[in-house]
Amino acid sequence: MDSARTRYTQTFLSLQAQIRFYFLFLTFCLGFSFSHCHFHKDSDRIPAPVSPELGPQKTNPIEWIKIKESVWMHRSYGESGGKVYPANGLVILTNKGAVVIDTPWTESQTEELFSDIQSKFQKQVLYGIVTHAHNDRISGVPFFQKQNIPVYSTNLTAKLAKERGFGNPNPILDIQTRLGAGNQSVEVFYPGHGHSVDNIVVWLPDTHILFGGCLVKSLDAKDLGYIQEANMEEWEISLKKVLARYPDAEVVVPGHGDWGKLDLLRHTIRLLVAANN
Ligand SMILES: [Zn+2]
Repeated sequence: MDSARTRYTQTFLSLQAQIRFYFLFLTFCLGFSFSHCHFHKDSDRIPAPVSPELGPQKTNPIEWIKIKESVWMHRSYGESGGKVYPANGLVILTNKGAVVIDTPWTESQTEELFSDIQSKFQKQVLYGIVTHAHNDRISGVPFFQKQNIPVYSTNLTAKLAKERGFGNPNPILDIQTRLGAGNQSVEVFYPGHGHSVDNIVVWLPDTHILFGGCLVKSLDAKDLGYIQEANMEEWEISLKKVLARYPDAEVVVPGHGDWGKLDLLRHTIRLLVAANN
């Protein structure tokens, strides 16, 4: 009798457990389908944001091209008019930290640049220099400012950057054209109008590297690229000033494409002569 009661109690308890299980399962299913429905409704209502920078940035991380032991080119990809373009900047490694010449196309790429500098070279960024107020040069300025790292430009570039919503670079470069950076130094030179009204070049006297930026085209460039803000008459004069000032440049880095020698400046002059005729 006792064992029969025990069996009865066990059956009853297991039945109770089963009912409880089914009840919980049903609650879970209802809850899941409701939340699922809800999710779909939300995503129907709010279209997923599509960031134009997402595509190129996701598929193309920052590329690092070594020029000399202490000078590297950073290359990032950005979209302009529906097309993806590479852009070059420099990173100078000194015994005190790194100097960045021009930022990538976006703030998030600039964040990636900083973390690369830390992981690849174990350096902190000392300061940045931006060579003119276009998005492939100065988009990362706000990121520098959030990190409390100085970023320098000329007055004209700072004025244009502010107007165009690219943050506030510190405009010291008209007065202070040579900056120290640990065991190296950096010189900036404004040759006059060219690709833009405010384009400057950067000279690294310790390594004889000239960063021409967008004033200078790469050897494989068949045209002058974006010229809506260019001064097609004065550009050639500006290039000749750079050639006269830095005749012993061993490496010339253009804003886009591969680096080379001083013939990049002469090639740019040829493109200008062809475009102006
Ligand atoms: Zn430009």
